Amino acid sequence: MEYEGKIYRPWPEASSFLIQTTYGCSHNKCTFCDMFREKKFGIRKVEDIYQDIEEARRMYSHIESFFLIDGNVMAIKTDLILKVLQKIKATFPECNKISLYSQYNDFRRKSVEDLKLLKEAGLTMAYVGLESGDRQILEEVKKSMTPEQAIEGAEKAKEAGIKVLASFVFGLGGRDRSKEHIEETTKLLNILKPEEIAPMALAVQPGTELEEQVKSGKFVQATRLQMLEEEKYLLENMDFDTFYWGDHGNNVVSLKGDFRKYKKQFLGMVENAIKNPDINKESVHETFSW
Ligand code: SF4
Repeated sequence: MEYEGKIYRPWPEASSFLIQTTYGCSHNKCTFCDMFREKKFGIRKVEDIYQDIEEARRMYSHIESFFLIDGNVMAIKTDLILKVLQKIKATFPECNKISLYSQYNDFRRKSVEDLKLLKEAGLTMAYVGLESGDRQILEEVKKSMTPEQAIEGAEKAKEAGIKVLASFVFGLGGRDRSKEHIEETTKLLNILKPEEIAPMALAVQPGTELEEQVKSGKFVQATRLQMLEEEKYLLENMDFDTFYWGDHGNNVVSLKGDFRKYKKQFLGMVENAIKNPDINKESVHETFSW
């Protein structure tokens, strides 16, 4: 089984088998991200991918869930993704879930017909980085995506029946743009209506452009209180059914479950945390590398 460099997979995919399909991220410019900095984006040879799938079959008698790594596998040609999906399904008839990373822009650049082919071949879910719904913040973090492009990509994925888990980042607007960040993100989420969401507290990664901005004072990190107030606003104003993965290790409060069912409980937990005397108006939230 061949994996190159540092490997990332979303934490809900902890028990999935990882198949390296691409190397790195085709965008690789977001100021807060160091996931694939050391890798040049590339596509793995299909024969090598097949070899790994066959080797996995020899090693394991039962695998139901696969995750295609690295970064946005959805950026590559549909034909190649189809070959990988078909090989997995043919080799593992018990497989009922195949997921990958995508950007909303990757959905946008494919036709709905292509996305439907991927869905029919076994692709069940895509993990998509929304980061923020605020146009200014998206520009500042160099996401190269507008809210309108996110909407267009989301509509195509929905039409094709591919589920989306959208992740976004508490504190990405810093201390000065916390309010705009969460208001615009919540507004956009209410349009996108992802089937699952994963809000994560901002972690300033060593070696990133964001870290330089923090050091120079250009970016002032949000306080723990602001992060909690962002989460409170989100919970109060989201109005669609979704699964809430608010249990990332960096989050101030750990929340996980069906949003409609647990909304009141989640809100109570966030409100209690806000009342905690340790949550003062100045302290920055300490986080760990993603
Ligand atoms: S946040 Fe996502 S799109 Fe941006 S550089 Fe990192 S992996 Fe690539």
